[in-house]
Amino acid sequence: MNNYPIITKKKIKSNNEVKRIQKENKKKYGRRMLFGYPKASIPKIVIENGCIDMVGNKSQSEIQAVEANKLLEAIEKNELTGMSGNGFATYKKIKVAIAAPGENKVIIVNGAECDPGLTHDAWLIRNRLNDIIFGSKLLAQMLHTSKVFLAAKLLKNEVIEGINVKNLPNRYPTGAEKVLIKEVLDMEMDKNEIPVKKGILVINVQTVIMIAEIAKGEFLKGSRYITVADYETGEAKVARVNYDMDVKEVLEKVFGDRKGKAIFTGGGIMAAHKAQENEKVTPLTNFIGYSKEVTYNNESKCKKCRGCTKNCPMGIQVHKVIGDQEKNIKTNMKSYGVEDCINCGSCTFLCMAGKNTMEIVNMNSK
Ligand code: SF4
Ligand code: SF4
Repeated sequence: MNNYPIITKKKIKSNNEVKRIQKENKKKYGRRMLFGYPKASIPKIVIENGCIDMVGNKSQSEIQAVEANKLLEAIEKNELTGMSGNGFATYKKIKVAIAAPGENKVIIVNGAECDPGLTHDAWLIRNRLNDIIFGSKLLAQMLHTSKVFLAAKLLKNEVIEGINVKNLPNRYPTGAEKVLIKEVLDMEMDKNEIPVKKGILVINVQTVIMIAEIAKGEFLKGSRYITVADYETGEAKVARVNYDMDVKEVLEKVFGDRKGKAIFTGGGIMAAHKAQENEKVTPLTNFIGYSKEVTYNNESKCKKCRGCTKNCPMGIQVHKVIGDQEKNIKTNMKSYGVEDCINCGSCTFLCMAGKNTMEIVNMNSK
């Protein structure tokens, strides 16, 4: 599925309501620079307004003492996958972290949620902090470590029940694994290094809550929290949904049938796709939302502003890729770093010429 940003800087500028919301959010989150990385600052374009449970809660059961091996088995049996959009089996990732050499293992619970259209991780941090702490402690037992960080925004740096809360700056994409490690641990990782193999387990905040639910016998297999929004009006709600639910039905349950607006879904609004007819929620679904279509024109002329390169978190020379492509020059694109693209969409979001630069970079990385 071809994913692309469904908002651009230009589009936000022409929508007064979304522009107002973004201005408010900019104030709320602040603009501290992410050190060492030039980054786009793309504040949220939605305001979250509560949560709708479309699944139904299991009654709260007594917390049992959980044995690490049994919990790992239960995580596997419940087919829990990472909640940040990669769909990787959680038990496998934990097993790799357990098997990693060294004594000083680290757990980073990722609640950074930097995508401008997502709000559910922030809601979970505000409303399910006890389960985040409980799930983090279970993981710490499994990895025999006491080094646990909760990386989030709008929280102050403090220690809560042994967990180090790390307040992150409002830059995009702070949530990308290696960017997060740099910010939380001040540790630079080589592009070929796999953090979990080094004993650094980065795990999404929602996944940690699900681990707590599994341990308490409350987990509803095949369900997750997502953001449901209208990206033209800036309204958003958090929803707990099942994987087999119809994307369109979920959206209509929250906002009704808003005729004339297209429906998008995916990992985040910086890498989204138009919902297919009868598309279902999957472990990779982070949002469902109404939005206007956004059109890109890869034939338009580059304005040479270099915004794409200045804001690429991976240091890719995007403007050079575009320049060579426009002039039809055959270069070794690897020298521009195209293989490092993490599909964050920042370059496309900012492109003054209205090009989908992320797509062009990806075409040249093959
Ligand atoms: S080239 Fe890739 S990593 Fe760099 S800004 Fe564009 S999408 Fe993000
Ligand atoms: S952001 Fe767009 S217009 Fe500016 S240099 Fe990059 S490709 Fe050219």
